[in-house]
Amino acid sequence: MELARYIRDIPDWPKAGILFRDITPLLANPQALRAAVDAMCAPYKDAGIAHVAAVEARGFIFGTAVAARLNAGFVPIRKKGKLPFETESITYDLEYGTDTLEIHRDAVPAGAKVLMVDDLLATGGTMKAACDLIEKVQGHIVGITCLIELADLQGRPRLAPHTIHTVISY
Ligand code: 5GP
Repeated sequence: MELARYIRDIPDWPKAGILFRDITPLLANPQALRAAVDAMCAPYKDAGIAHVAAVEARGFIFGTAVAARLNAGFVPIRKKGKLPFETESITYDLEYGTDTLEIHRDAVPAGAKVLMVDDLLATGGTMKAACDLIEKVQGHIVGITCLIELADLQGRPRLAPHTIHTVISY
């Protein structure tokens, strides 16, 4: 199935000069959604993944689906101030300014095998912060899987030495 057909390009959104890859047509199509989740899981089917971690908001969509497909649990990583229990946090640089992500301190048992999920890998800044948080709470990152990769933005080298799988590359 040609999944790229279900990604809609939106020029100049959210601001001038950005070509946004809109995943909502793929989410709305039953066959495409199923095929996307299957493809994201494929290399990790027999990897003994115990938990899938993802960052809100679009990461949650695929994160939960991938977790259910791999018979794993789901761990939410959220923007500052959203999680109710004790948290670890990380502040990372954005193009303009910084952002802070949080995870529950007891999100995974020490050494648990974790798969990191997001809809799209661009500069890798979000994923790097998410990986650092999982390592702060003693999770063991087995790999990363994203539906889309914007290869020009060089996310992969930033995430070395983690194993990275993506389904659609631009
Ligand atoms: P990065 O931190 O790798 O530069 O950016 C990736 C994050 O930004 C992901 O969490 C992703 O949801 C969001 N993102 C950036 N650009 C796009 C885009 O064109 N389409 C979608 N769907 N998400 C994007």
